[in-house]
Amino acid sequence: MLTPNGNYRNLKDSYLFFGISKKVAAYRAAHPDLPIYRLGIGDVSRPLCDAVIRALHEAVEDQAKEETFHGYTPECGIPEFRSAVTGYYARRGVKLDPEEVFVSSGASDELGDILDLFDASSAALVTQPAYPAYVDASIIAGRKVNFLTAGPDNDFLPLPAADTEADLIYLCSPNNPTGAVYNREQLKAWVDFANRRGAVILFDAAYEAFIEGDLPHSIFEIPGAESCAIEICSLSKTAGFTGTRCGYTVIPEALERGGMNLNRMWVRNRTTKTNGVSYIIQRGAAAVFTEEGQEQIRQNIKVYKQNAVRLMKALDRCGVKYTGGRNAPYIWAECPHGTGSWEFFDLLLNRCHVVATPGEGFGSCGEGYIRFSVFGTPEDTEEAAQRIEQFLNN
Ligand code: PLP
Repeated sequence: MLTPNGNYRNLKDSYLFFGISKKVAAYRAAHPDLPIYRLGIGDVSRPLCDAVIRALHEAVEDQAKEETFHGYTPECGIPEFRSAVTGYYARRGVKLDPEEVFVSSGASDELGDILDLFDASSAALVTQPAYPAYVDASIIAGRKVNFLTAGPDNDFLPLPAADTEADLIYLCSPNNPTGAVYNREQLKAWVDFANRRGAVILFDAAYEAFIEGDLPHSIFEIPGAESCAIEICSLSKTAGFTGTRCGYTVIPEALERGGMNLNRMWVRNRTTKTNGVSYIIQRGAAAVFTEEGQEQIRQNIKVYKQNAVRLMKALDRCGVKYTGGRNAPYIWAECPHGTGSWEFFDLLLNRCHVVATPGEGFGSCGEGYIRFSVFGTPEDTEEAAQRIEQFLNN
């Protein structure tokens, strides 16, 4: 008799987005004629930029002709994509070899798959509130999960203490859901800690493109990170690839544990478990890193940032405390008057027709908070901001 993976029994029901959609569906059924303004899930509203669309079309044409047709591509990425990424890092002073860059179908896939590199006995450390995949993927892999709380006491940016227990450390900066961003000194503290302990940092940089000013976009901007970190990136929010699917993972050649080289192990993993990412998609993704692509995605990000400014203005006028919004596409707001997360969610839905995300869904320490996403259209965001302001000020 086959024994299924019993770790699935240890997963909590993923009630966050299910709970939201159930409540929104009930609301829709009761008020079919009323609009709903969605500031909830983190899907984007801007389309792919012209440079990407053009590259995708060209790659489709390549596949139509015998001379340019591509069958299987290298599992770890086509050279054009891998060097486009190294070029992007080089502009920020980070020197990578193309062999240190692995193409992926997105960060979510990688966050689960990468755990193949580590023994199940290695404990994970997650700063909470957190993107739910860190905890769930670790539990499915049978891993113990320890938590560090991110809250107002540490500006939502927890740091390691001498007695912090961790083998695998999940860091997300800019953070989903809090929007908080680690500075260089803080990341250096994590890098030194990981190197001292022989731990590995899984650095989720899905929102790096939203950073302004002199804050690190990559853990590899921090000296010493090449011997203790893996960076997982996504083009989903940076360049609107949520439905197109492409990301990349950086594993330095220098990263070794227990006499094993993690870069070599990941090559072995990818060549066993994948046959790469579609040639067409990789060509489109490489175009993101051209000068033209960068300029065009900056225009899209600007639209989201203007949404953030609009929402922050509304919250400021209502005296609501929040973090994020400036270097991240999320605003993490305290629910006013000690209201609970779900209670405030209901109020926003029923009184403002606005959907946000209850903070409690990102871990118990998110209770009392609500997350606003700025990925909606400017029109919806404007309407939502006006309604929230009117509701909270009356
Ligand atoms: N990491 C974080 C922090 C995210 O918020 C998300 C998506 O919302 C992802 C990873 C997943 O990105 P992808 O679409 O590349 O799977």
